[in-house]
Amino acid sequence: MYENADEVAVLYGGVLMERGPARDVIERPMHPYTAALLACVPHRRDGARQVGIEGSVPSVADWRPGCRFVSRCSVAQAQCQSGSIPLADLGGRSVRCVTPLAGTGAPP
Ligand code: SF4
Repeated sequence: MYENADEVAVLYGGVLMERGPARDVIERPMHPYTAALLACVPHRRDGARQVGIEGSVPSVADWRPGCRFVSRCSVAQAQCQSGSIPLADLGGRSVRCVTPLAGTGAPP
């Protein structure tokens, strides 16, 4: 599954949300969007009903300060809606989130 790329980058609304080694990002996502996106892949659900991500991508006209994923994020907080969310270097992974997931692979 990882023979096509050594590194992957996950973007949402034109913003880099997570980047890192392909196996790490796919098996242990640290950004809520990456985790939600991977939960939509049918074969990862072991035959369970396919899921999607609630809501829709905001149009360019609706882009606001803060995280672009905030309206669809299940773990969003007040601080996600203002300012600029920095891209943090977390030991070989780059993640743009105020509360990155633990990288356990569990969906948010
Ligand atoms: S910054 Fe906030 S809204 Fe954006 S992904 Fe992280 S927790 Fe969710």
